[in-house]
Amino acid sequence: MPDHDVAIVGAGPVGLLLACLLAQRGIDVAVFEARGAADDRSRAIGIHPPGSATLDAAGVGAQVRAEALALDGGDVICASRTLASLTFTAAQRVLILPQHRTDAFLRARLSQVQDGALHLGCTVTGVWNEDAVARLSFAERPDITASFVVAADGVRSGIRRQLGIAWRERPGSGWYSMADIPDSSDASLGTRAQLHCEREGLVESFPLPGARRRWVAGDPDRVLGDAAAFTHAIERRTGIRLELPGGLKPTVFQARQHLAARLVHGRVVLVGDAAHETSPIGGQGMNIGWMASQHLASAIERSLRAGRVEVEEYERRTLRAAARAQRRSSFYMTMGRPARGPALLLRNTAIRMLGTVPLRGRTADMITMQG
Ligand SMILES: Cc1cc2nc3c(=O)[nH]c(=O)nc-3n(C[C@H](O)[C@H](O)[C@H](O)COP(=O)(O)OP(=O)(O)OC[C@H]3O[C@@H](n4cnc5c(N)ncnc54)[C@H](O)[C@@H]3O)c2cc1C
Repeated sequence: MPDHDVAIVGAGPVGLLLACLLAQRGIDVAVFEARGAADDRSRAIGIHPPGSATLDAAGVGAQVRAEALALDGGDVICASRTLASLTFTAAQRVLILPQHRTDAFLRARLSQVQDGALHLGCTVTGVWNEDAVARLSFAERPDITASFVVAADGVRSGIRRQLGIAWRERPGSGWYSMADIPDSSDASLGTRAQLHCEREGLVESFPLPGARRRWVAGDPDRVLGDAAAFTHAIERRTGIRLELPGGLKPTVFQARQHLAARLVHGRVVLVGDAAHETSPIGGQGMNIGWMASQHLASAIERSLRAGRVEVEEYERRTLRAAARAQRRSSFYMTMGRPARGPALLLRNTAIRMLGTVPLRGRTADMITMQG
């Protein structure tokens, strides 16, 4: 007998959501997380409608909605002119909540549905398929076995590497700098997003709960790592003058895209960023991981009942959905690149077209991951 039905490696938003979905179905789950405490880094903020549906399924939707800010829509701007303006319908509404808060709701929910399922400070060092189980070894504790091991161990997944699964780079990468700061009154933009697609590059601005905003600037030369360079670039491109609270440095990150060549190896299954890295420009990585977790929870439940591994459909659907999201993110990154002359004119015409009445609804559907 294995020690657990399912062992999940990694307590990021995807591993936690999957654990809640499985535990709710009465499946015995254990989550092993290397960190000793919660991860409070500033990462995902956007929860798209399909992502909200998965949070509802995991029993935390209402709590997330109560704390999140609902994004009304957004404007695409170039040289102080609005090229396109979208207002989301109720079905398209994107929720904004910092990732560490969503994680906190999921962690609390997991302890409600299966107390003691989360094991912090446990670093997985190896995984093996044996006869009818998979085995995990740890730096800090004895081995355990499970009917399924799910690797939700993020972009740098050690399990993916150990299993020798190829990690294929997809087109579209770039450097960006980002800061979450109080919304100063002269730059107050309400509950709408603003995307400045300027000659010198992209500036994005999103409202956050608690009268704050996230500012992101495309950084072609990777030089916007200090507060002065970041705020000067934003002012030069948009005319908006920001002040970063004393000592705050923008976070510099590289947006890249990768897709695992396969997601299943015997009784070990990859999910979330371990399976697909999607550029944060367009903000869909966590949402795609959650949607895939719903399929995976059903596939694991079916497999446990049938006594055999039935996860091929999960793999096929997830690889297809991730590839589609990566194409969308490549498009968003292209729209935000520095451009001049005819290239800028052409790009602005394309953006204007996407915002015209006949296309506006479909554009909003694409941005909010509908269909
Ligand atoms: C700046 C930025 C903005 C983003 N914005 C958005 C957004 O708005 N919307 C969106 O959908 N996505 C967004 N994303 C992407 C989103 O953050 C990721 O898709 C999401 O965190 C993936 O979750 P995960 O659970 O798969 O992996 P992770 O969050 O990376 O969690 C993996 C966990 O596994 C643990 N782990 C790793 N190795 C081991 C081991 N050997 N043993 C035990 N534990 C281990 C790690 O400590 C970590 O806690 C953004 C990303 C960035 C960087």
